Amino acid sequence: MIPTIFAPATAPGRGGVAIVRVSGPDAATALTSLGGRPLPEPRAAAVVRLSDPRDGEFLDQGLALWFPAPRSFTGEDVVEFHVHGGRAVVAGLIDALASLPGFRIAEPGEFSRRGFENGKFDLTAAEAIADLVDAETSAQRRQALRQMEGDLGRLYEDWRHRLMRGLAHLEADIDFPDEDLPDGVADQVRPVLEALIGELSAHLNDKHRGERLRDGIHIAIVGAPNAGKSSLLNALARREAAIVSERAGTTRDVVETHLDLGGYPVVLADTAGLREAADEIESEGIRRALDRAARADLKLAVFDAVTLPDLDAKTLAIVDDDTLVVLNKCDRAAVTLEVIGGRPVLAVSAVTGQGLPELLSALTAAVITRFEAPGVPALTRARHRTALEECRAALQRALLAPLPELAAEDVRIGIRALGRITGRVDVEDLLDVIFRDFCIGK
Ligand code: GDP
Repeated sequence: MIPTIFAPATAPGRGGVAIVRVSGPDAATALTSLGGRPLPEPRAAAVVRLSDPRDGEFLDQGLALWFPAPRSFTGEDVVEFHVHGGRAVVAGLIDALASLPGFRIAEPGEFSRRGFENGKFDLTAAEAIADLVDAETSAQRRQALRQMEGDLGRLYEDWRHRLMRGLAHLEADIDFPDEDLPDGVADQVRPVLEALIGELSAHLNDKHRGERLRDGIHIAIVGAPNAGKSSLLNALARREAAIVSERAGTTRDVVETHLDLGGYPVVLADTAGLREAADEIESEGIRRALDRAARADLKLAVFDAVTLPDLDAKTLAIVDDDTLVVLNKCDRAAVTLEVIGGRPVLAVSAVTGQGLPELLSALTAAVITRFEAPGVPALTRARHRTALEECRAALQRALLAPLPELAAEDVRIGIRALGRITGRVDVEDLLDVIFRDFCIGK
């Protein structure tokens, strides 16, 4: 017997309205035994006086919605109670629901899990729901919504179906060698596999665009000690209206600030100054700074205008196409330099604020051009990446396989890897594909 589950759907604490959701075979009982008798019209809000079924104590007057299966989020019978958002109201309602036989509080993610198991959405859409709940910037919201609407799931399902058709050709070659099949079945499969390897590679080779959007785009501030890195970080953080959060780094050498730049979540990291290390601790800090810079999506290389014409060689060495070059302290020295390390110079003063709006615009533009790729859904999770890499490796092996049996096995591995992403691991439907595509029995 499937238990009927319930849980508050809104955040704990005071609020205008709190929603408690109930899902499972006895959801209707929850409504009728708390006061919603007769059951209201499906999917229409009804005002109900809610009372504890044990002693009749009045709990609240609220709204109830009744979603009979399968037209609900979970695909089961679902009831939603919209009550006043006070702690005692919610606690009373939860307590009353817990007293009903066969009811228990939901585990984390259990509503979504039931929705997935009942075929309401695939795993990528379920993950997108979680991302949408976590979204803090508009770009994160857009990505989660696209994925929730099935963009990513459709892409992976399309690839899986193409592979299944390819496998059907291979299987036919193995199982029915004497049948009157067109010649060169393997030659028909080869271009399918090659095309898919190409598409998988393009999708995988996206600079972690989608994953970065979920976690934040990393920007490292690098430069010699006293160039003004910390001052710049503070100045940028103060100017940016929408700071998502701020947390000190766990080590003394990296401090992170979270910003929202043009809707993109950004993690701005101030690293230890690059210079000859005086001691071991400092050299470890510098090693981490360089490592951080190497892993960052973008870098801010900060030079000191006061020390011109000398340019810090260590900082100069890391300037590349993913670097914005900043010349700081331009309040103290006239800046005539326009290019450093082949990159245009942004002259700023962390102290007076001069040039900071331009720096923020340049930074925002760099972030946007780097991460916006309209029309192509982005890979969003390490879980997907692992499965896609596994699929690609299997297809590469299949291309080299000396026997069609071995190639077929590798293609099957590839299909399963893709199926794991969306949660459709069943390969039994392969037979349907064989007969639909080939009409072997005629
Ligand atoms: P960091 O070691 O690179 O993080 O440099 P700091 O941010 O600690 O700055 C080093 C020194 O330079 C401090 O005394 C700052 O007040 C000063 N400083 C930083 N930015 C500017 C600036 O734009 N103009 C001036 N005049 N001084 C600055």
